[in-house]
Amino acid sequence: MTPDRSKTARELLAFYVEAGVDAAIGEDAKDRLSEPELFQVPAARPARAPATDDAKPARPADVRGNAPPLARSVAAPPTAPDAAVMAARDAARSAASLDELRAILDRFDGCGLKGSASRLVFADGTPGSRLMLVGEAPGAEEDKQGLPFVGRSGQLLDRMLKAIGLERANVYIANIVPWRPPGNRTPTPVETQICLPFVQRQIELSNPDVLVTIGQPSTGALLGVQGIMKNRGRWFPYQTGTREIRAMPMLHPAYLLRSPIGKRLAWRDMLAIKKALG
Ligand code: URA
Repeated sequence: MTPDRSKTARELLAFYVEAGVDAAIGEDAKDRLSEPELFQVPAARPARAPATDDAKPARPADVRGNAPPLARSVAAPPTAPDAAVMAARDAARSAASLDELRAILDRFDGCGLKGSASRLVFADGTPGSRLMLVGEAPGAEEDKQGLPFVGRSGQLLDRMLKAIGLERANVYIANIVPWRPPGNRTPTPVETQICLPFVQRQIELSNPDVLVTIGQPSTGALLGVQGIMKNRGRWFPYQTGTREIRAMPMLHPAYLLRSPIGKRLAWRDMLAIKKALG
């Protein structure tokens, strides 16, 4: 490749990474824009076509006479969300142990995120620990290693735990969503709802005394409260399915890396967790 072309290729790759396209999902390059089935031009209709009840009228040309926009057909998710949530509930309920739950989750095809992630990121630490932490979703490093919180924010989380005398082996860590969303985007509400029964069962089976939800997505999904700044450091009751335990939202370490001023609040929350563990 000439130096010019390799510079262009590097710049293009940098642009892709910035746009969130940072995972290869196949061996061969595919020009998806040239796939005819993804871009279908609506069939032309006669000006006064008799109304049929099986189709909406085609969009007319705009006032300047431009052709109607191409209708892009969106790939349907593998399963309709409601059916996927029901399937997830049944599947999660059927797991009698954390090992079984991991195996069931690994076979579960109801969440579209599985297709773009490299692997399942189920948990780290020690099941049955008194403290369980639940984050949002795996990032690039977690996706590579198959373990939650092993990237930069995970290293900060380790330091925060150490500050109250805990090692990773003393806690159990999971995420609301066990597959990396492409480009580290926040999981959608549908993806979250589909994965929620699994993490709820994971909590029930690990049976911690104290649950910490890390960041808003995990707090909203598990505790049903909105506003991490308002709710961090507060205790909420959480029903595991067999008993009520205490749960507390805390600021996400990724946020603390961006806004170190929040570490003051995070320190208070860590002390409250220490106290709750007695
Ligand atoms: N952020 C999360 O919420 N979870 C991880 O596992 C890593 C980063």
